[in-house]
Amino acid sequence: MIDFEVPTPIDHQMKRIAMLGEHVMRPIARYYDEHEGERPWDYINMIWQTVREQGGRTLALPNSDETRKANGEKRPRFQNLMLVHSVEALSWADAGLYLSTPGGALGGAAVEAVGTSEQKARFLKRFTEGEPKWAAMAMTEPQAGSDTAAIRTTARLSDDGKEWIINGEKIFVTGGLMSAKESKGFVVVWATIDPSAGRAGMKPFVVEAGTPGMTVAKIEHKHGIRASDTAAIVFQDCRIPYENLLGSAEVVRGDLSETARKGFKGAMKTFDATRPSVAASALGITRASLEFTAAYLKERGVLVRYGVPLHQQTAIERDLLQMEAQHRAAWLLTLQAASKMDAGEENTLEASMCKVKAGAVANYVAQKAVELLGPEGYSCKLLVEKWMRDARINDIYEGTGQINRLVVARRLLGYSSKELR
Ligand SMILES: Cc1cc2nc3c(=O)[nH]c(=O)nc-3n(C[C@H](O)[C@H](O)[C@H](O)COP(=O)(O)OP(=O)(O)OC[C@H]3O[C@@H](n4cnc5c(N)ncnc54)[C@H](O)[C@@H]3O)c2cc1C
Repeated sequence: MIDFEVPTPIDHQMKRIAMLGEHVMRPIARYYDEHEGERPWDYINMIWQTVREQGGRTLALPNSDETRKANGEKRPRFQNLMLVHSVEALSWADAGLYLSTPGGALGGAAVEAVGTSEQKARFLKRFTEGEPKWAAMAMTEPQAGSDTAAIRTTARLSDDGKEWIINGEKIFVTGGLMSAKESKGFVVVWATIDPSAGRAGMKPFVVEAGTPGMTVAKIEHKHGIRASDTAAIVFQDCRIPYENLLGSAEVVRGDLSETARKGFKGAMKTFDATRPSVAASALGITRASLEFTAAYLKERGVLVRYGVPLHQQTAIERDLLQMEAQHRAAWLLTLQAASKMDAGEENTLEASMCKVKAGAVANYVAQKAVELLGPEGYSCKLLVEKWMRDARINDIYEGTGQINRLVVARRLLGYSSKELR
């Protein structure tokens, strides 16, 4: 069930983020788009205070009950709702800057999803103290994107059984540079302990920043979200402690098919937790585009008449009404996915559904905004063209639109991943 009233603490948080967004983030958005590779330290230091004050909640990672207990936090009933509202508001200001927010992000979410209590305490405590830190998750490889089972990065046990030795190449790692090299963060690397077993051999490993054998090989020059670093990372005989394999050690030593299921399910569980945030980020860009377009047209005397029959609407009115309706539909799906998590219910279907919808809506609305504003919309004088570029990623990472549609179809029709691929 969804309660449509925004809880007071969320409302207060939104007001604070709106101020930060308007006065700190928006004014620097264009600069960091044009100066890819420079880090927005003013924003990072400011938001880090908030991340720490909130008990290490990273704005991109909902803490589990265990982590909250370890950090001495009380459990808000609406933590994931708070999260999607926050991500939406930060992305309204600037999605690239939001993605450069320090904290656990996808790497932290993987620890939350698969780690033991001891691992959660060991790896996540750092986000509550000291200087800004980042974490990333590295799954994608040159030959393995949507088909994660095709990963070739390997992890083999050292002769004395005390270390894992990782070899392989990961590409397009969000926050990879900050996590692997430029802070005391970590990278969660998915590697196979049995290359012949496909998904069965896949396991997540935490590699601490600065570990010998882990090298940031390349930083991508991107179409959008340029304030966020995206790195290629190479692992060459990279040795990590045995205990950095996420999850129970017993599983590894036991039956491999059990390992398999737990390993891959861990990746899926991570995405169930993070896809609503991707949707929320897409919808922040959507709202920015929508609000700006409506205000811009209003200034020029173009007003939307609500409640006018379809045959009397102008073309622009119809466009704006459709943009607004699509935005609301996607937002409601996102709230549903987050609410189910808050209620402790499984949300795989809703998480994929909201991501599919929000990714498509963000692209549609931002592109329409550029179109409706004419040449001004396409010029770099305004941020609208940037929002169109920033929106694109939401339909690509954490499962492309097509892959999430497959997840939705399987769930609705009752097919397994073997039956519908
Ligand atoms: C800026 C950026 C940041 C990223 N950050 C991360 C990160 O932090 N960590 C990480 O591990 N990865 C990250 N990625 C990688 C991202 O998750 C992959 O790009 C994505 O999973 C798609 O994989 P691919 O690019 O290899 O495309 P492919 O899998 O080769 O797909 C190409 C096209 O085919 C479609 N397709 C593939 N299979 C099917 C199918 N079965 N049915 C229908 N259509 C299909 C896809 O939807 C896509 O349109 C990032 C990518 C980018 C661009």
